[in-house]
Amino acid sequence: MRIDKKQLEIIEQQIQSCTLCVLASTRKTAVPGFGNMNADIMLIGEGPGYHEDEQGLPFVGRSGKLLDDLLYSIDLSRDDVYITNVVKCRPPDNRDPKSDEIESCRTYLDKQINLIDPKVIVTLGRFSMARWFPGVRISDVHGEAKRFGSRIIVPMFHPAAALYNPQNRPLLLKDFGRLPKYIDSLNLEQQGDQESKSTVEQLNLL
Ligand code: SF4
Repeated sequence: MRIDKKQLEIIEQQIQSCTLCVLASTRKTAVPGFGNMNADIMLIGEGPGYHEDEQGLPFVGRSGKLLDDLLYSIDLSRDDVYITNVVKCRPPDNRDPKSDEIESCRTYLDKQINLIDPKVIVTLGRFSMARWFPGVRISDVHGEAKRFGSRIIVPMFHPAAALYNPQNRPLLLKDFGRLPKYIDSLNLEQQGDQESKSTVEQLNLL
């Protein structure tokens, strides 16, 4: 279903003027998200950092460059996906977002997910992962898909984790490499292909 761009713009405007949590008082620019409104894949990170706060865009700087490389590895660009975070405003000094801040901001993430309705959600880092995979370690489950209704959620390391720890980079590349298969399976399932339906059902690995 094609969505009305206006609806997404209204959510972005609400975010820009939001004061629901304390992060409003220290942000320079809120970062609602960026990308294709009709994307099959939505990527959800943690929160804006310094550069994102300056530019109002998600995943700029070194993590963003790595994310671009990861998308390129599966023949996609950030214009093909939608990228956002669990909190839309930068936590001071790049500290972790707090649970009450994530909860306050959840209403916007919920609206974005409902509107864009991606086939696959990729959680980047433990804060976005926790919503669908509570109580697990990312090192144990990264890259493994889980079915939630008609959607597949895939937890992955945050790109920053591969910058700090280069041994995570090939893991991220491998996990991204699985995404086209997930999309293909869901597309075939929608077309009524029973073999693919069973493939997708087998994706419920966690
Ligand atoms: S982080 Fe979310 S809830 Fe908090 S002020 Fe920013 S937009 Fe509002």
